[in-house]
Amino acid sequence: MEIPRSIRTYCPKCRVHTVHRVKKVIQKHSPDPARTLSWGQRKFIRRTKGYTSQLAAKKDHVKQSQRNVLLLECSQCKKKQQRTVGGRTRKKIELKRGA
Ligand SMILES: [Zn+2]
Repeated sequence: MEIPRSIRTYCPKCRVHTVHRVKKVIQKHSPDPARTLSWGQRKFIRRTKGYTSQLAAKKDHVKQSQRNVLLLECSQCKKKQQRTVGGRTRKKIELKRGA
């Protein structure tokens, strides 16, 4: 999957479509230790508790796909925003050469 190096898209700061420069973002997959007792995490523990839980069986499931995240930088205000391209996929994205 090839992606052009510049995309014309909406900028939340300028509130209009502008040309954005595209960069790839390398995602880190380490779990955040600060989120161990967050509301969502406690809810997850509550749900997966008990032998009837179906979710508990999936505990060791490892995601095989990853999200391709792009960093878009507005050419006018230089504000950066992240965008996921293509959802969860195993396909690799590449930036187009030249142009
Ligand atoms: Zn902008």
